[in-house]
Parts: sequence; C-alpha cells; structure tokens
Amino acid sequence: MDKIIIIGGGIIGGSILYHLYREGYQGKVVVLEKKSQLSQESTSLSAGAFRNIWSTKVNLKLTNYSINAYKNFHEELGTNIGFEQIGYLFTYYEEEFKGIKDFKHFWDENGVRTELIKPEEIKNFVPGYIPTIDHIDQEVNEVLNMKPIAGGLFGPDCGVFNPTTASNRYFEYTKEKYPQKVEIKLNSEVKKIIFNNDETLGVELVDGTIIEGDLVILSAGAFSGDLLKKSVENEDYHIPVVPWKRMLFTVKMPNIEGFEKIPMTIIDNGVYFHPEKGNLIVGRADPKQPFGYDYTPDPKYYEEEMNYYMAARIPGMEYCRIISPQSMWGGLYEHNTKDKNGIIGFHSNLKNLFLATGFSGHGVMEAPGVGISVAEKILKGEYITIKDVEDLKFERFKNNQLIKETIVI
Ligand SMILES: Cc1cc2nc3c(=O)[nH]c(=O)nc-3n(C[C@H](O)[C@H](O)[C@H](O)COP(=O)(O)OP(=O)(O)OC[C@H]3O[C@@H](n4cnc5c(N)ncnc54)[C@H](O)[C@@H]3O)c2cc1C
Repeated sequence: MDKIIIIGGGIIGGSILYHLYREGYQGKVVVLEKKSQLSQESTSLSAGAFRNIWSTKVNLKLTNYSINAYKNFHEELGTNIGFEQIGYLFTYYEEEFKGIKDFKHFWDENGVRTELIKPEEIKNFVPGYIPTIDHIDQEVNEVLNMKPIAGGLFGPDCGVFNPTTASNRYFEYTKEKYPQKVEIKLNSEVKKIIFNNDETLGVELVDGTIIEGDLVILSAGAFSGDLLKKSVENEDYHIPVVPWKRMLFTVKMPNIEGFEKIPMTIIDNGVYFHPEKGNLIVGRADPKQPFGYDYTPDPKYYEEEMNYYMAARIPGMEYCRIISPQSMWGGLYEHNTKDKNGIIGFHSNLKNLFLATGFSGHGVMEAPGVGISVAEKILKGEYITIKDVEDLKFERFKNNQLIKETIVI
C-alpha cells in the first residue's frame, strides 16, 4: 500500500498516523483537515478525562492500553501532556449501586483497580460531601428528586490530561520523523469520498481538488456520518454517527479546604466535575439535547441542571459561579445512535474505506488504543494488541451484535 488518506486532524487521526509508522508502514500518508489548525474540534473541546472503568471488555481494554500509553507519552514522544491520575469517583443510589457491585469481579479479573466506597467515606475524597438528603429543603428536593447515596466507586488509575497537546504532538512528531512521507494539509475540507463500484478511489475537496489513495480512513469525528452520507447514496452503507452538543463550564473552586485535590467526581443527575488550573470544569450530558451542529453554551442549563445538584450535595458549591462568558463552551460528541461506542474497521461494503469514528464521548481516552489497533489491522491484517476491537466492526449493526456499554456519563 503506497498511499493512505486520513480525513480528520483530531486525536484519532493523529494517533492513527503515529501508530502506522511506529508499526512499520513505509508508504505515504496525506492528512486532510478542514480547519486552519489541527486538533481544534472535539479534541480540544473535551473535558480531557480518562477512565478504565467500563461494563464492556473492549472499552476496558482500549482504555487500559491508552492510559498506559499516555503515562509513557513523555518518554515515547517527548512532550508533557499534563497526565494526572487523580482518580474517578462515581456515586450511586441504591438500585444502581447493586449493579455496580456485581461488576467488581469483572474489573478484578481484567486488571482494573477499583474500590467500593461507603457513603460516609466519600467526604474523604470530596470534602464537604453529604451522602444523605435530610439537610436538603423538602420543597427543593421535590424538584431535584435526590436520594440517599448507597455507595461510591473509586478508580485510582483514572484521571485527566491535555488531549490537544497529545493530539498535536502525534502529528508533529510523525511529520518531523518522516518529512518526505507525511503530508498534512490544513484548510482542506473533504467534500466527498470517491467510489467506483463500491471501491474507494480517494476524495474530492470542496475546492474541486481530487486526491487519490489506496485507502481512506474516515476519522472526521462528529462530521463522519454526514460525510459518508454525502459520498454514497445507499443507506445500508451509512454509519449511525450524528453530532450531539455537550457543554462544559469552567467555574470557581468552592471555598472548601482540600477541594482542589478531589478526583473527577460524578454526582446526582449525571453532573461531573474535576479541578483544572485552580478552577473546576463541570459538565453533564443532556439527554434532551437535539442532535445537530450546535455549539452554543447555555448558562441557564448550568444553573438549573447542574449547580442546584452540586449545592445540595456539597453545600458551598452554590458559589461555584461561571468564571466568564469565555469559560463555557459547547462541543460535539460523535454520537453513535445505535450503541454509543466507536466504530472501528474496514467498511464491509465499501472496499478500502476504513472507519475510526463514533466514539460517543470517550474518544480522547481511547485514542492510543484505537491508533495501534487501526495500524495493526491495516498492516498486519488482524488486531494483535487488543483483540476485542473486532467487536467494534461496522457489521455489528447488521448482525445485531451491538456492544451495549452501561457505564456511560
Ligand atoms: C464537551 C465534550 C466533552 C468531552 N469529554 C471527553 C472526555 O472527558 N474524555 C474523552 O475521552 N472524550 C471526551 N469527549 C469526546 C472526545 O472529544 C471525542 O471522542 C474525540 O475528540 C474524538 O476525536 P476525533 O479525532 O475523532 O474528532 P475531532 O477532534 O472532532 O477531529 C475530527 C477532525 O476532523 C475534521 N473534519 C471534519 N470533517 C472534515 C472534512 N469533511 N474534511 C476535512 N476535515 C474534516 C474536523 O475539523 C476535526 O478537526 C468530549 C467531547 C465533548 C464535545
């Protein structure tokens, strides 16, 4: 294979590029990015959190591999990516906690370190945390519907990092090492992928330029589904990936001693937060958000769907105000509507099209695992390091072999 085209200059495209050469690829790669800079879409808009706590083996393996790769990133690629294993702390009501306890064996068997935490011990991780609800005004709780916490789950190997730095370094490092082989084309939006009798020939850019290649890798994040739709009419060939707005808010740290050392914490109503540079990053996935290319942050959503819950669970968090209009943003999940998991593998109907998209909110934490897997499949014909990646093939939608992940945020 002489020439590979990668569509998308985000962390998935970057990791694939890096791993292709690390695994011995000798040919050329052209990376096509529509923006004027790399890594400026979902990669840079993400919360930068990683965890290895999952209900499916493939996610667990992909993240276990990736966490290790990020840990060694500085040694391997010479750049500090702000990797910090601050831990993840999930908190649960009675019903959910029962299910979580059943998973403990699965994690133990697969080398994922976890600890079940008693409700009264949660404050040792998050100062000021109250697991009961007696202190919450009854009228207020009729609206919030918060319940007593039955227990927590702590993952000490989870944490946060800077995905933009990691992504940029994948590109920069590979370009520096293989200047004659790697071409990174910015301001180069792909209009459509070109096929002839279901065989991939290359791509056409919006300015009319045609670029031919032996293989096209579709890693265009939230835009992947629409790009394939524009490229091929047959609906059976489309992928179930849509853009879905998710918002993040940088807010003031509460005036509670020790709060700057809390893990990534997930509380009632799916609200999560972690410390970042003296502030807190707060998010919550809104199930009512319509699909579409919407990036607008909504401060009212923070007040009503997030901050009330924070303040009720951890008194003092009512003072966690949004720092400024610039410190909140919306970004797009590349949401897989069928089973909220990545789609990795050759397209089963379109020859020489490789899919690496649909990660539904867990793409940056899986990127190294995705990169090594894609490189192995393309160069060696099989997944060697993480065999379970086979489960994420496109055919699973037709064969009804969906990968249902139950631990999603
Ligand atoms: C608010 C938010 C919080 C998140 N938090 C986390 C988190 O904590 N942990 C985690 O693991 N994941 C998180 N995610 C998800 C994560 O950001 C994505 O899964 C990940 O960035 C996917 O990487 P990517 O390279 O596929 O996509 P992107 O980073 O979006 O890169 C795709 C690139 O393709 C380019 N492109 C698109 N269409 C074309 C075209 N036609 N031609 C040329 N170029 C094109 C885009 O400009 C973009 O640069 C979050 C996402 C959001 C929005």
